[in-house]
Amino acid sequence: MRPGATPLPELARALAAGDLASREIVADCLAAIEERNESINAVIHLDENAQAAADESDARRRRGESRGPLDGIPVLVKDNIAVRGAPLSCGSKILAGYSPPRDATAVTRLREAGAVILGKANLDEFGMGSSNEHSAFGPVRNPHDPERVPGGSSGGSAAAVAAGFAPLALGTDTGGSVRLPASWCGVVGVKPTYGRVSRSGLVAFGSSLDQIGPMTGSVEGAALALAAMAGPDDADATTLADAWNAPSFGEDSLRGLRVGVVREFLEDGVDEAISTRIRSAIAAMESAGAEIRDVELPHARYAVAAYYVVASAEASSNLARYDGVRFGHRDPEARTLDELYTRTRTHGFGREVQRRILLGTYTLSAGYSEAYYQRAGRVRERIRGDFDQAFSQVDVLVSPVSPESPFHLGDLRGDPLRMYLNDAMTIPASLAGLPAVSVPVGMIDGLPVGLQVQAPRGQDDRALLVAAAVERLRVGP
Ligand code: GLN
Repeated sequence: MRPGATPLPELARALAAGDLASREIVADCLAAIEERNESINAVIHLDENAQAAADESDARRRRGESRGPLDGIPVLVKDNIAVRGAPLSCGSKILAGYSPPRDATAVTRLREAGAVILGKANLDEFGMGSSNEHSAFGPVRNPHDPERVPGGSSGGSAAAVAAGFAPLALGTDTGGSVRLPASWCGVVGVKPTYGRVSRSGLVAFGSSLDQIGPMTGSVEGAALALAAMAGPDDADATTLADAWNAPSFGEDSLRGLRVGVVREFLEDGVDEAISTRIRSAIAAMESAGAEIRDVELPHARYAVAAYYVVASAEASSNLARYDGVRFGHRDPEARTLDELYTRTRTHGFGREVQRRILLGTYTLSAGYSEAYYQRAGRVRERIRGDFDQAFSQVDVLVSPVSPESPFHLGDLRGDPLRMYLNDAMTIPASLAGLPAVSVPVGMIDGLPVGLQVQAPRGQDDRALLVAAAVERLRVGP
């Protein structure tokens, strides 16, 4: 197998054994990008220091000073996460020409672990979208079928891993943006517990929801990457206080595990083929000794509505800083201050971002904030309560990641509501701040399908161990 398309733990072993050099992995990734990125459009910037960083890693190993399993592993970073010296576009025209003065904490920590920053991955503008069609750099295509979308908003990261452009990519997840594209591209995606990974240096979308998460070819690889990034950070007051280490993936089993299933998530509006595949994954878990129980999340049906109020409200506030004065693009023809704001924002932001700003501004405005924003907050509390109740009966919850398979590019243009509904099963965990993993469970008609494993807040280990056990069951073709 090509090094760039090899699961991370295997790469780490080959590097440790001296069978492979970081220089070779990076060269292989660059060759794959050269060959196929023009059609996939997953990578929007290459870091010119990658080869030099790989050489440094190889030199460290020769001196016996390896920094661990990630030393020498190339990683692509979603372009809403700061990498010093590289552009930071957020897939938007409004940040044209902007380059951040420092690395995001997650990137600093990956560098400290020896990882090689390969470049930046395409995304839906500011992380808003489910198909990666909303990028100023053009849409990303699904490597399994280039006529179809990869999912979003971390579509570039997912497609890059699936195409073997990089063994590891960082995504960000506000309402499902790591899990959905992971599912549709057939890779593993992890949304950690809110606060597990510092948001410092991640461009804010919905600050109470945003999390950086790894996307890669195996659950164990994702855990290694998460362990490198996780932990408290003075620069982000919402980080959890405890350090986090990857669990040991040796002896875990499903025997005696109580697995909760929400029936609606297998029925309401879910494609027949997806529901069948997820049911067979659940049956395989049962055969391996898990105990399957029905549970209820009575308020989950309001999650999408509450999310689009909360996330848009936070986005409208976070995006107020792009005014043509402080960052990136500034309209050259504006004559007054008002014109500067209006023209810069009108031309700089794409349609979906403008839609969110309008929605958010509306729901926060005097007279409406009680009816929408505050009520959405109460729904969020109810959903948290539903999960607490469910997790008093079961250890994990499983569901599809998405109700449908990746659609053709352009299919949902003009139907934002159906686009939003693709997140119906990922958003509840986002509102509650829970860890959730998307793990591949085979293909339907040549397109990948993911199973979502959710665990109680702080129990990222449990979500990962169960996802790894599912990975080993090798459900489906
Ligand atoms: N698709 C959802 C949205 O557009 C989630 C995006 C995300 O998680 N960043 O808001």
